[in-house]
Amino acid sequence: MSTTDSKSAQGALPDGLGTHARAFLSRQQLLLIGSQRCEAADGARLQTLDPATGRVITDVPQASAADVDLAVGVAREALTTGPWATLAAAERGRLIWALADAVEVHAEELSQIESLDQGKPVGLARFVDVAMTVAHLRYFAGWPTKIEGSVVPVADTGTLCYTRREPVGVCAAIIPWNFPLLMAAWKLAPALAAGCTVVLKPAEQTPLSALRLGELALEVGLPPGVVNVLTGDGQTGAALVDHAGVDKIAFTGSTAVGREIGAKAGQALKRVTLELGGKSANIILPDADIDAAVKGSYQAIYFNSGQACNAGSRLFVPAERYDEVVSALADTARSARLGPGLDPGTQLGPVVSAEQLARVLAYVESGVAEGAELVIGGEAVLTDSGGYFLAPTLFGTSSDDLKISREEIFGPVLVASPYDSLEEVAARANASEYGLAAGIWTRDLSNAHRLAAMLRAGSVYINRWGSVDPAAPFGGFKASGIGREHGHDGLDAYLETKTVWTAL
Ligand code: ADP
Ligand code: MG
Repeated sequence: MSTTDSKSAQGALPDGLGTHARAFLSRQQLLLIGSQRCEAADGARLQTLDPATGRVITDVPQASAADVDLAVGVAREALTTGPWATLAAAERGRLIWALADAVEVHAEELSQIESLDQGKPVGLARFVDVAMTVAHLRYFAGWPTKIEGSVVPVADTGTLCYTRREPVGVCAAIIPWNFPLLMAAWKLAPALAAGCTVVLKPAEQTPLSALRLGELALEVGLPPGVVNVLTGDGQTGAALVDHAGVDKIAFTGSTAVGREIGAKAGQALKRVTLELGGKSANIILPDADIDAAVKGSYQAIYFNSGQACNAGSRLFVPAERYDEVVSALADTARSARLGPGLDPGTQLGPVVSAEQLARVLAYVESGVAEGAELVIGGEAVLTDSGGYFLAPTLFGTSSDDLKISREEIFGPVLVASPYDSLEEVAARANASEYGLAAGIWTRDLSNAHRLAAMLRAGSVYINRWGSVDPAAPFGGFKASGIGREHGHDGLDAYLETKTVWTAL
C-alpha cells in the first residue's frame, strides 16, 4: 500500500501501546537479509496504516527484484554452506523452541504491534495470534529429531536401499494480512523443522510483526540467512515466485493470486502449497442446541471481523427454525462493541484497509440489488477515530445463486438460508467452488458423522467452529487450496525423499 492518500504523515502513536511496542515502532524499519538489516536497493518504502484511524503508523522498505535476488542468494548459502546445513537435528529443534520462548517473552509487545497494524482486538491478538504462534513453533520444535528415512526391502538382496528425508530447499513464504504473525509461524515452523531456509514476505498492509519475528529469530541464534524478511507488495511476492533459486513456495492468500502462483509453480516445477479462499457452509440441524449453535455461528463469521479464510460465511438453518435463529443472531450483532483494536473493550475491530472496506461494501450493495433481505448492518460505521469500520452484517435469502452466496467476501457479512432436508443441505453446501471448512450443529451423532462424510471440505467442525491445532491437518479441497499445513502432512510439504542404492 504505497499510499499517497493517507490522512496524515507519521504522527503520534496511539494510547494502549507499551514501552516495548513503542520502541519498536519508533525505529527505522529495514529488510532482514542474512545478518544485515538494510534498505531496499532502490530505497523505495511503503507506508503501513492503522485501520482504526487510517493514519500512517510507520513505513517499511518496498523490496524489489534486486532485493529478492540478494535474499534468495543468502538463503541458498545458509542452506548449503552455513552452520545450518550441518547442524544436529536436536539443535535445530532447540532453536525453534527458543524462538517460541522469545515470542512468549515478547507476547504483549507482539500483540500490540499486531493489533495496531491489523486492527484486531488486542486480546484476540494475544490469545489467538501470539499464543498459537508459540504453540505452533513448539509443536514443530519436536519434529527435527523424528524425521527418519527407512531401509527398503528391495528384491535384490545384495543391495542396501534406504531413504533420506531432506529439506526441500529455499522456501518463499508469502502470507496475508488477516493473521500476520501466525501465518508466518505456520510457514516458518515446519520449514525450519525440515532444515529449510526461508524468505518471508508479509502482506503490504501488515508488515510489522514479521519484521519483529525476524529480529527475534536472529537474537535466539538461528544462523543468519536461515530466516530473511522482505517487506513489499504483490510485486515483491511475484519476484519471489519467479526467482529460479526458490525451491518451494508456501502461500496463503486470495484464490486469484493462488491460481497465478500455482500456474507459475507448475511451469517451473517448483514445490507449492496454497491455502486460499473459502465460502464455508455452517449447517444447523433441526435437533441442535440452538443457543450453542447461534453463539458458535456468530463467532464463526464475525471473529476477526470476518477476515478468516475458514469463516462460516454461509449459514443453513432448518426452515422451521429459521426466524428464531436469524433474530437471535441479529440481537447479538446489535450489541457488538466496535472500536480500535487497542481498546480492551473492543469486540469487533475495523476491517484491514479502505480498499477492503470498499470491497465488502460493494458486496453488500450487490446483495441488496440481487434481492437478499438485509437483516442487520451493511453500512460503514463512522466512529470518532475514523477508520474502516463495518457493523456485523446479516443477509437472508433462499437463493444460492447470488454473488454474496457464492463469492468470498472476507468481511463481517453472513448469508443465512433456510433448508428442508439433510440431503438437500449437503448438496447445497457442496455446490461451491471452495471447500475449506464446514460446520454441523446437532445432538444426533449419527447424522453428524453421515453429513461430515458427505461434505467436500478440508475441515469439518461438529458443534464448534474454527478449531485449529498444530497437530491437526488444515487445508482446502477444490479452489480452497493445494496441500495441508500442520501435523505430519504439514512437515512433509517441506521435505524431499531421496532413495540411496548401494551394491553390497
Ligand atoms: P488480498 O487480495 O486479500 O490482499 P492477496 O492474495 O492479494 O490477498 O495477498 C496475499 C499475499 O500475496 C500478500 O503478501 C501479497 O503481497 C501477495 N501477493 C499479491 N499479489 C501477488 C502476486 N501476483 N504474486 C505473489 N504474491 C502476491
Ligand atoms: Mg497496517
